[in-house]
Order: sequence, then C-alpha cells, then structure tokens
Amino acid sequence: MSLSRSTGTGSTVAPSGCRWCGIEARGHGRQHVVGVGWHVWTAPTLQQRKERMLQRRAVRPVRKPGPGGR
Ligand SMILES: [Zn+2]
Repeated sequence: MSLSRSTGTGSTVAPSGCRWCGIEARGHGRQHVVGVGWHVWTAPTLQQRKERMLQRRAVRPVRKPGPGGR
C-alpha cells in the first residue's frame, strides 16, 4: 500500500469522521475548511454516516463466496 494524501478525491472517509472534513475525533484537533473555517470535531449527520458507509462498501473489493474461504 502506498501512502497517499488524504486530501485526494476518492479516499474513503471514516463513518464517524467529522461532519466538515471527515477526520476522526481522535486525530482532529482544530481543522480549517474552506467555507466552514476553523472548527473542532463535529458529529456527522445520520445521512453522512450512511453515505460514508456505502462509499466504503463500494470501494472494498467484493469477494466471491467460495468453498473453503478463509
Ligand atoms: Zn473537521
């Protein structure tokens, strides 16, 4: 796995990540986002959680259920 910048598009966001920037609470601190400004971690909306979970699913490779799967 290569270390890519989290600012790129297409990166998955933790479902419990900040409402504004997507960073999780433990690593958040104060962040600046254009249009929002400086902010502390804010709980995402239910809709955001749902969308993020769906995004994660879409990115995760689908494994075919095979015989003797690990
Ligand atoms: Zn944030």
